Amino acid sequence: MSRILDVDCCVAGGGPAGVMAGLLFARAGCSTLVLEKHGDFLRDFRGDTVHPSTLEVMHELGLLDSFLQRPHDRLSTLSGIFGGQRLDITDFSSLNARCKFIAFMPQWHFLDFLTEKAGTLPTFSIEMRAQVTDLVEDGTGRICGVEATTPEGPLTVRSKLVIGADGRHSLARNKARLKVKDIGAPIDVLWFRIPREQTGGDEPLANTGKGHVLITINRGDYFQCAYVIPKGATERVKAAGIEAFRDTVTHTAPRLSPHISSLKSFDEISPLTVTIDRLEQWSRPGLVMIGDAAHAMSPIGGIGINLAVQDAVAAANLLSGPLAEGTLADSDLDKVQKRRMWPTKATQFAQVEAQNNIIAPLINDPQRLPAPPLPLRIVAKVPWLQRRLAALIGLGVRPEHVTSPQKYAMQT
Ligand SMILES: Cc1cc2nc3c(=O)[nH]c(=O)nc-3n(C[C@H](O)[C@H](O)[C@H](O)COP(=O)(O)OP(=O)(O)OC[C@H]3O[C@@H](n4cnc5c(N)ncnc54)[C@H](O)[C@@H]3O)c2cc1C
Repeated sequence: MSRILDVDCCVAGGGPAGVMAGLLFARAGCSTLVLEKHGDFLRDFRGDTVHPSTLEVMHELGLLDSFLQRPHDRLSTLSGIFGGQRLDITDFSSLNARCKFIAFMPQWHFLDFLTEKAGTLPTFSIEMRAQVTDLVEDGTGRICGVEATTPEGPLTVRSKLVIGADGRHSLARNKARLKVKDIGAPIDVLWFRIPREQTGGDEPLANTGKGHVLITINRGDYFQCAYVIPKGATERVKAAGIEAFRDTVTHTAPRLSPHISSLKSFDEISPLTVTIDRLEQWSRPGLVMIGDAAHAMSPIGGIGINLAVQDAVAAANLLSGPLAEGTLADSDLDKVQKRRMWPTKATQFAQVEAQNNIIAPLINDPQRLPAPPLPLRIVAKVPWLQRRLAALIGLGVRPEHVTSPQKYAMQT
């Protein structure tokens, strides 16, 4: 027997976009159900960066103080080592924002926090291990719900609005036959962690050697490392063996040497296929797409989570009030794309430029000790450009503020 649930808003996918959208629509008074296919949020290397723009949203929701009480690390400056020479690229102290730093918090803690707060709203519910398998259409082709599998058996959700927030391999966008524009990315990334001595020192984020780029994020007692490789080179790196990989890492960032032996095999390394794409059309009657499901981002700048949150805020600002009042029209759904396409395009353009002009030349020349790339040298010398870069990374293009209605108050 299939269970049937009726809600105002059904969200497919419980990532940053889906959970934030669920919270905001429920807060506005819409009965909201989030369906997440996994049993928990515990997935490593899913992106841990909570940028000043998202922290601003937390403040506007009254959640910032309790959020910052959860364990996290802070990054206030961006710097890199190029051919042995340190370059300070930018810092966030100039930001016109409450929090002038990027908070690093494992994504599952971030999502646990949001679902815990959303769970104090009478209109919010989330089902874990609920995998959306299809969209439901009425006789006119309007999407009016989803089908899902759950541990209790099949589930049909009938809803006035479906939000597709099921990530970059989105089933919702495939089932809705929405066209994807592939922008392309010349790189992939290998993620791993190496223990770290707690020196308290100011650590450079980017490390470069002959043909190598390694990002090292200080996470207290360990470094979260991202080794950048040419597209599709994962198998080639693996074939060279773990010993060769460890040598490359320590040549590129010698300060990782004391604990490199902790990296025992490629099982401890997570490959990320970098994708940059976006939908040409983000909605269909009854359905709107947000987050990675609408636009997969490169990890450059660590802005994927934050863009997903911004989409959720914009969707709630534009749609949750009319949905709660019963006045939402299908023609309104297009407003989300109108609002968010420009920031998406501008951010993806900046990522493509950084990929092609800074990163690709560094990883494609194994002979030459890298000099600081020209665009970064210029930025490092011009304070105005530094402030612009800090704002672009920290706050993004067209930052969103919470203006959606608050029918119910959350426990903060
Ligand atoms: C390895 C890696 C490292 C990254 N590093 C960073 C970083 O440092 N900083 C950063 O900001 N971004 C990073 N990103 C990108 C970031 O994780 C994403 O941009 C962000 O999570 C997008 O949020 P989202 O909610 O749109 O999608 P997702 O986080 O992908 O969430 C989608 C959710 O939908 C669920 N789902 C999928 N299909 C279904 C279905 N059929 N039914 C129900 N549920 C479903 C998934 O389980 C998932 O929980 C990284 C991504 C990867 C893969």
